[in-house]
Amino acid sequence: MTTDSWKLDVIVLGGGLGGLSSALAMRRAGHKVRIYERYDFNGEVGASLSCASNGGYWLNEWGVDPYKAKPVILKNLIRRDWKTGKVNGIYPLGDYKEKFGFPYFNFHRIDIHRLLKEYCTGEGEGKPCELFLNHKAIKVDYESGYVEFENSVKTTADLIIAADGIRTLTKPQIGIEPKFRNSDSSCIRILFDTKKVRELGLKDFSNNEAIEYWGGETKYKIVLSPCANNEVISCYCFYKAHETDVKNDWNNDASVEQLIENCPDLDPELVELFSKCGYDIKQWRLYVHEPLPYFVKANENGTKGVALLGDAAHAMMPDQSQGAVAAFEDAGALGYIFSSKFDLTVEQKLKLYELERKPRVTKIQAASLRARENLNERIGWSSSASDIKPEDKLTIDEVCGYDMKSHIDELAKGL
Ligand SMILES: Cc1cc2nc3c(=O)[nH]c(=O)nc-3n(C[C@H](O)[C@H](O)[C@H](O)COP(=O)(O)OP(=O)(O)OC[C@H]3O[C@@H](n4cnc5c(N)ncnc54)[C@H](O)[C@@H]3O)c2cc1C
Repeated sequence: MTTDSWKLDVIVLGGGLGGLSSALAMRRAGHKVRIYERYDFNGEVGASLSCASNGGYWLNEWGVDPYKAKPVILKNLIRRDWKTGKVNGIYPLGDYKEKFGFPYFNFHRIDIHRLLKEYCTGEGEGKPCELFLNHKAIKVDYESGYVEFENSVKTTADLIIAADGIRTLTKPQIGIEPKFRNSDSSCIRILFDTKKVRELGLKDFSNNEAIEYWGGETKYKIVLSPCANNEVISCYCFYKAHETDVKNDWNNDASVEQLIENCPDLDPELVELFSKCGYDIKQWRLYVHEPLPYFVKANENGTKGVALLGDAAHAMMPDQSQGAVAAFEDAGALGYIFSSKFDLTVEQKLKLYELERKPRVTKIQAASLRARENLNERIGWSSSASDIKPEDKLTIDEVCGYDMKSHIDELAKGL
C-alpha cells in the first residue's frame, strides 16, 4: 500500500456549477479528476446568481478569487410594492462580511461558470482536471465504476460524482425513481444592459447593491439584481403557470409581451424597462422535487461508488437563491471528506457525505418551496418574520454561518 492509496480516480458527470465545483474540490484534495459534459458550453446562457457566504467560504477554500468573476457585493434586500414600486421594507445585510466571513456575492452565472472551469483545468494546486465536452453519459454502474457515453466512449473510475442536473440520468440508474410534480409557478428571465438603461433615461437599479423584490406574497414575484460589475441587470419574474407552460421545459424563448401579460398591474417603471430594453428573455417551467431516499451508493466491498450532487441530489425552488450554493457546499463536503484526513473506505466516506448533506439540503429545499409564495420565508426576513413557526425558520445565521467541517468531524466520530 502506497502512502497515496487514498487518492482516487474520479469521474464527474456534468459540467454545470455543481460539476465544476466538485471537480475543483476533488482536485484540491489530491485526486485525479475527469469531467464529462454532454454539451459544449457554447449555448451557455444565464443571469444573476447570488452566492451567500456559505458558497463564498468554499470558493475561498479552493483558492478561487471570486473578484475575477466581476461580482456585485449585495448590501440590502429590498421589498417593493408590486403596483407602484414603492419601497415597503429593507433588510440591511449590515456587517454580513464581518459576521459570516465572506460578502454576499452576486455573479453573472456565465462569469462564475467560466472562472470555475479555468480553475479546474488551469495551473494551481493538484493535477489539472481533464474536461471532455460532448460526452453524454447513457449508462452508469456504481458497482464497477463504469460509465458509458452516447459517443461509444467507455470508462471506469473509483468514484463517480453525478452532477448531471435536475433531469439526472444517474438517479434512475442507481435505483431512485425521480418524484416530482409540476409547480403551479413559472418564471421568465429578462436582462437589461445598464448602459442602455441610462442612455434611455429609464429607472436605473444598477447601483442599489441589492436584490429587489416586487410582490412575493403570492405566486407573483419579481426578483431584480445587478451583476457583472453592475453592467447587467437581471430580472426573474415569477407568475402563475398556464396549462400551456406545462408543455414547455426550461430555457424556452419568451417575448416581452408574454412577460408583461403575465405580470398584470406591475410597477409601470419596470414595465417600461421590460419593453424598451429587455433582452435574452427565457422562460422556465418550475417543478417541485421530493427529497430523495439516498444520495450515494457503494459497491459490495466498499471500494467504489457514486454520489449525487447539486440539482441531481436536491433540486429546489429558486426562491432562497441557494441551489448553486448548496452544490458548492456538497462539493466542499466531498473534498473535505475524501481528503487524507479521514482514514475511511470509499463506502464510509460516501455515507458520511450523505449524513452531512441530506438533512441540511432537505431543510433548505422545504424552505425554498415555502418561500415560493411567502417572501417572509426568504433567509434574511425569515429570521424576523412573526408568521413562521420557530422550528420552520431557516435563519440567516444557520444558512450563511454554517460550520460544515465541524459538523463532518462530529459525524465522523459516529462511524
Ligand atoms: C430562475 C433560477 C434562479 C436561480 N438563482 C439562484 C441563485 O441566485 N443562487 C443559487 O445558489 N442558485 C440559484 N438557482 C439554482 C441553481 O441555478 C442550480 O441549483 C444550479 O445551477 C445547479 O447546478 P448543477 O451543476 O447541479 O446542475 P446544472 O446546472 O443543471 O448542470 C448539470 C450539467 O450536467 C450536464 N448533463 C446533464 N445530463 C448529462 C449527461 N447524461 N451526461 C453528461 N452531462 C450531463 C448538463 O448539460 C449540465 O451542464 C437558480 C435557479 C433558477 C431556475
